[in-house]
Amino acid sequence: MQRELKRAIEEAYRVVIFTGAGISTESGIPDFRSPGGLWTKMAPIDFQDYLRSADVRAEAWRRKFEIDKTIVAAEPNKGHMAIAKLVDEGKVAHVITQNIDNLHQASGIPSEKIIELHGNGTYAKCLDCGERYELFQVKEMFDASGKAPDCTSCGGIVKSATISFGQAMPEDEMNRAHEATLGCDLFLAIGSSLQVYPAAGFPILAKRNGATLVILNREPTELDRIADLVINDEIGPTLAPIAMLN
Ligand code: NAD
Ligand code: ZN
Repeated sequence: MQRELKRAIEEAYRVVIFTGAGISTESGIPDFRSPGGLWTKMAPIDFQDYLRSADVRAEAWRRKFEIDKTIVAAEPNKGHMAIAKLVDEGKVAHVITQNIDNLHQASGIPSEKIIELHGNGTYAKCLDCGERYELFQVKEMFDASGKAPDCTSCGGIVKSATISFGQAMPEDEMNRAHEATLGCDLFLAIGSSLQVYPAAGFPILAKRNGATLVILNREPTELDRIADLVINDEIGPTLAPIAMLN
C-alpha cells in the first residue's frame, strides 16, 4: 500500500493534499469523530446562536480558551513534516485543509500554498469590520468584563477566525480550492472522515475531473468507494518513509 502511494506520488505531475483533523491527532489535538473526540464531549455552537446571544458567545469563548491550551502547545508531527517536504520539493502544489490549528504553517509551508476552508483558530476577527484580534487580547477583555468582547473599533461581534456550523464558507478559499483541485492529477485526502460538506466535495470534484484519488485514513471513509487507492493506517508512520524523513 505504502509502495503504491509512493509510486502514485512519483508518477504524478501535480499533487494536491487535503487534510482533516486526523493529521493533527499525532500532535495531541483530538479529532471530532473518533472515540473521546470533541464531538462526543460537546455539541458545536451554531453560528446563528453565536450571533443571537451574548451568553452563547461567552460560552463559546470559555470553551475556546479551554481547547486552546491543547492547540497552543501542539507542534507539527511527522505527517505535517512529510507534507512540508513534498511541498518544498515542488511535488505538492497546494494543501487544502479543514483544520484550524495552524500546524501546516508551523511546519514551514508558505501560506500561499495553504488553503484553509474552515478558517484559523489562532486569532479572532470582527465579523463586521474584519479587524484582527489576538486571542490574548480577547482573553484579557473577557477576563476584565466577564463578557464576550465586542469590537473596539466598530462595536461588531468578535469571533474566532474559524468557520462555524451555519456560517458561510469563505469565498476566496473555496475558489482557490476549486482551482487547485481542477489543476491536479493526484488528490490525496489524509485524516478526514470526509463527512463535512462542502469540504468533502473536493475529492469528488478531483475524481470527476480525472485525477487519481487516494485516501489515507485510520478508518473507512464515506468516499472509499470512489477512491483509486485506500490506505487504512496511521498517518505519520505511513507518510514519513515516503517523504524519506526516516
Ligand atoms: P473527523 O474527526 O471527522 O475525521 C478525522 C478522521 O481521521 C477520522 O476518520 C479518524 O479515523 C482519522 N484519524 C485520526 N487520527 C488518525 C491518525 N493518526 N492516522 C490516521 N487516521 C487518523 O475530522 P474532519 O473530517 O477533519 O472533520 C472535522 C471538522 O472539525 C473539520 O472540518 C475541522 O474544521 C474541525 N476540526 C479541526 C481540528 C484541527 O484543526 N486540528 C480538530 C478537530 C476538528
Ligand atoms: Zn469591528
